[in-house]
Amino acid sequence: GSAVSTVHAAEIERTFIAIKPDGVQRGLISEIISRFERKGYKLVAIKILTPTKEFAMLHYDDLKERPFFNGLCDFLSSGPVVAMVWEGQGVVKYGRKLIGATSPHNSEPGTIRGDLAISVGRNIIHGSDGPETAKNEINLWFKPEELVDYGLDSEKWLYEP
Ligand code: GDP
Ligand code: MG
Repeated sequence: GSAVSTVHAAEIERTFIAIKPDGVQRGLISEIISRFERKGYKLVAIKILTPTKEFAMLHYDDLKERPFFNGLCDFLSSGPVVAMVWEGQGVVKYGRKLIGATSPHNSEPGTIRGDLAISVGRNIIHGSDGPETAKNEINLWFKPEELVDYGLDSEKWLYEP
């Protein structure tokens, strides 16, 4: 990376964000990407793919005892998903803020789910819920060589030296 990103290397984190099949079908890819991009986060990996049901079950493994697990995995594997890794100071926690509460009934206006979704089973976006989960999910969805290490000139305007 650049000198700037090296200076902040200790504080920089990465999170896994996915636009689910409902977000893709509803034409919300660019809307969602722009919210992360305008905040100042850096896109370091992106791809579109339809996950298999087995892969969806691995992704949501922590929810396997929940009654909605099967339907959730059927849905995630029902069509294309946009899988991304975003990088920046505090991106894991603040990314969840941008996304909003799990149920759009409870998501604040101004959040992605609050502004763009209605029901919990069609809440258009996934985001890692903590630093450990983020590492695991990035490793599940991406090979190391799919993550791009680069500097952005805007970093010098986003972060104090
Ligand atoms: P998230 O981290 O905010 O996405 O929420 P969870 O990790 O708790 O759940 C994963 C996904 O399962 C959510 O984004 C919802 O799409 C779905 N989900 C969670 N709770 C429910 C529920 O009570 N009913 C249904 N149908 N889906 C749910
Ligand atoms: Mg979750």
